[in-house]
Amino acid sequence: SETFPEGLQDFLHALNEDMRTAADWGAPADYIPELAAVDPAQFAISVAMADGRTISAGQHDKPFSIQSVSKVFTLAAALGRIGDTLWGRVGREPSGTAFNSIALLEQEKGRPRNPFINAGAIVTTDALLDKRAPREALAELLQFIRYAAEDEEIYIDRHVAASEEATGHRNAALAHYLYSFGNMLNEPDMTLGTYMHQCAIAMTTEQLARSGRMLAGLEGAPRLISADRARRINALMMTCGHYDGSGDFAFRVGLPGKSGVGGGILMIAPGKASIAVWSPGLNYYGNSKVGTEAAHRLANFTGWSVFGA
Ligand code: GLU
Repeated sequence: SETFPEGLQDFLHALNEDMRTAADWGAPADYIPELAAVDPAQFAISVAMADGRTISAGQHDKPFSIQSVSKVFTLAAALGRIGDTLWGRVGREPSGTAFNSIALLEQEKGRPRNPFINAGAIVTTDALLDKRAPREALAELLQFIRYAAEDEEIYIDRHVAASEEATGHRNAALAHYLYSFGNMLNEPDMTLGTYMHQCAIAMTTEQLARSGRMLAGLEGAPRLISADRARRINALMMTCGHYDGSGDFAFRVGLPGKSGVGGGILMIAPGKASIAVWSPGLNYYGNSKVGTEAAHRLANFTGWSVFGA
């Protein structure tokens, strides 16, 4: 297994100290009331390494709403359940549009560009749901994530789910629009409820970093997906994981990453590490502001960019 860079633990501590003095944390997502109430001045980072250790700095024991980071796990679980037929319903191209955009759906006849924008994630959740009761699909997904992280404590925050259900008109519009094109197996509101509960999964950076070990192909990681599938999911994270900010994230950080509006980012350094960072304030694209800055510095320090050191 790969040796990790000298002094990574010291670096993480210094990074945490530095990030805490941020002049501008960005604002938390404002369209989900439970998230809008979160204090933006928070930071945590965890790195699960090839040698089996996980090292952290900051508030790494504090669960936060993983939101769209969950789309990575739903995709992995849906592919495991129905295989590559999923790609008949959702594409693999970056969208260049915002996470909740409806704009491309009409010209693409209800086949969303990729599984990480909301429209594509709703289709992916619909495929995982597969005419079952929402609680059955959610139990499967939660079990999948708990197994990946080797941690039974991971849970769904019902307040966040209820908060999004009460205000999620855009996602409701997307689900019903997809239904009108015949790209939904289940009643739109069933899929929507499942999707919003999946987004409301709460995890610490430590749990999230550990759950990504399967994608990094780390030795000792639970074997939930094949190496082929991990490589392809990583490719989608690189090209689509930060919505219309994906190009900039690849440019600055150079790692496959998936962000969520809760301020979390999961990043994969294939063969080397799985990294989670969290800070609830967002930038223009709806990705963690301080988290992206920390990711940039970590990539510079470690030389882990997949495009070269
Ligand atoms: N639950 C959020 C939504 O559907 C997720 C968005 C995100 O994390 O980017 O709007």
